[in-house]
Amino acid sequence: MKNILILSPHTDDAELGCGALISRFVEEEKNILWVVFSTAEESIPKEMSVDTLKNEFLNVVNKLNISKKNVIINHFKVRYLHEKRQEILELLVKIRNSFQPELVIGPSLNDFHQDHQIVANEMVRAFKSSSSIISYELPWNHITFNTQLFFKCEKRHLRKKIELLQCYKSQIVKNRSYFSEEFINGLARTRGVQVNSEYAEAFEVIKWIV
Ligand SMILES: [Zn+2]
Repeated sequence: MKNILILSPHTDDAELGCGALISRFVEEEKNILWVVFSTAEESIPKEMSVDTLKNEFLNVVNKLNISKKNVIINHFKVRYLHEKRQEILELLVKIRNSFQPELVIGPSLNDFHQDHQIVANEMVRAFKSSSSIISYELPWNHITFNTQLFFKCEKRHLRKKIELLQCYKSQIVKNRSYFSEEFINGLARTRGVQVNSEYAEAFEVIKWIV
């Protein structure tokens, strides 16, 4: 498994869902392509620059030593991805043909955020015959989540995840509970206990090709 595509409806979703795994993949020198669909310019408080989330995301990319060539930032309007469904599908098909990922990681089909649903559906539509597809866990958006696949991780990967999330100063000031270190550690510990590991991140399997 060398080429890995990460899909993030908004700038912070992939870090929240699989930040420790991304840090593990970087260590393992996987070829990562990371696609963001919205930088939520419309949700940024007036006193902040409209580029705030984009810049915070670029700080994350920097911290991971991922080249900017491996990142695609789109500017679809937050909460209106449904209006661009076909455009999103076509973008993913283009990426499928050029990057040919063996593994695609994106939001869950059980995620109730409207933008996450669009990305999850178009992800399956685009990659269902070509790639293994798994979904990361964002518990505040799910009613059910099937913990079918676990990636074990070490303390250093989890520390990196927390460090990456700290790049999102604009979100931290909003006091979002899922940005708290206590929550991030607690969930990783819970998933770790399920697989005899200190820490882990859990995923749903949509398709697994061996
Ligand atoms: Zn999101």
